[in-house]
Amino acid sequence: MQTYKVAVLAGDGIGPEVMVEAIKVLDRVQAQFGFQLEFTEARVGGIAIDVDGRALPESTLKTCEAAEAILFGSVGGPKWESLPPNEQPERAALLPLRKHFQLFANLRPAICYPNLTHASPVKESLIPGGFDVLCVRELTGGLYFGQPKGTHMENGEAVAIDTMVYKQSEIERIAHIAFAAAAQRSGKVTSIDKANVLENGVLWRKTVTEISKQYPTVQLNHLYVDNAAMQLVRNPRGFDVILAENLFGDILSDEMAMITGSLGMLPSASLGTRELANGRFGLFEPSGGTAPDIAGKGIANPIAQILSAAMMLRYAFGQSAAADKIELAVRQAIDRGYRTGDIWSEGCSRVGTREMGDAVVSELGN
Ligand code: NAD
Repeated sequence: MQTYKVAVLAGDGIGPEVMVEAIKVLDRVQAQFGFQLEFTEARVGGIAIDVDGRALPESTLKTCEAAEAILFGSVGGPKWESLPPNEQPERAALLPLRKHFQLFANLRPAICYPNLTHASPVKESLIPGGFDVLCVRELTGGLYFGQPKGTHMENGEAVAIDTMVYKQSEIERIAHIAFAAAAQRSGKVTSIDKANVLENGVLWRKTVTEISKQYPTVQLNHLYVDNAAMQLVRNPRGFDVILAENLFGDILSDEMAMITGSLGMLPSASLGTRELANGRFGLFEPSGGTAPDIAGKGIANPIAQILSAAMMLRYAFGQSAAADKIELAVRQAIDRGYRTGDIWSEGCSRVGTREMGDAVVSELGN
């Protein structure tokens, strides 16, 4: 039987509560699809600071190295906010993990479910049936990392410099991720750049166009980033996969998350350079944080964590049918009216974290 090793890093706040539900869902599909997941739990974030003295203990890193995927909860909370910035849970755990595993591709689906369109800030008449857009963002290059970088004095005033740098090979590898993802979805990639102003944009557009020739079933179009920001709020249903460099992807993926109206339900994946038999090593986590205001109350929405687990099955292990089934089960649980407090509306059943997990498991069947 095919076995996959998963490092489970639940973290702080609602992390452990929602992780239990994701594991429950994974346990059900592994039985149904005939593969086996080997889970190894490890501490990360604030809890690791308290117990081990640092947010990413060596033993946790070793557990991740021995695994084929990291299923991550979220880290941080008021207890650790007064630590120096470099020791704070998010910065001291997530950034080193991204760097260590060279997680260059960030995938963030923005899904607005047909029964939750009322929660979107976009007019319901513009999004009949909701929408499902995937943002593929380059995560390790561009303006955030290019050299030179810094602030110096010039003629008596401060001057700040950031440099946008992309190598052709960096654009090629993220483009492959976007086209491969689109080939499994509606087959459309919208590539974002600023080719009218930036040299980087010219190289981006040329390279993406070249790579697209290897994916004849996928349709490619290009948009300038400013236009894309407008089109996204005007007609999100016009998009399938959005491919963007680091800074543009950072901004657009937040805009996309916001227009779903259900921030607490969005998963994400960060894929690395290590290739596996049918996918890539990656870190899979909810887009939201540790929700300290509701932690420990059993009312957090576990859907983002459950959908992160589905992304793990699809993008790390190539188990797309199992991932599809989980995503469908989530939709069906919502269609049946199950709602945690964050997405509740009149006429629906208000449930807690465990009941929502149970509702999804029940939709999966035996
Ligand atoms: P947050 O996402 O934790 O919470 C924002 C709001 O959304 C809160 O009202 C919260 O109750 C709600 N919310 C979030 N997830 C929810 C869920 N699954 N179900 C129901 N409601 C949910 O953001 P924040 O308040 O800015 O940050 C809280 C802590 O989380 C901070 O310490 C921050 O550093 C950390 N954080 C961690 C990550 C990460 O680990 N990747 C990401 C973001 C924030």
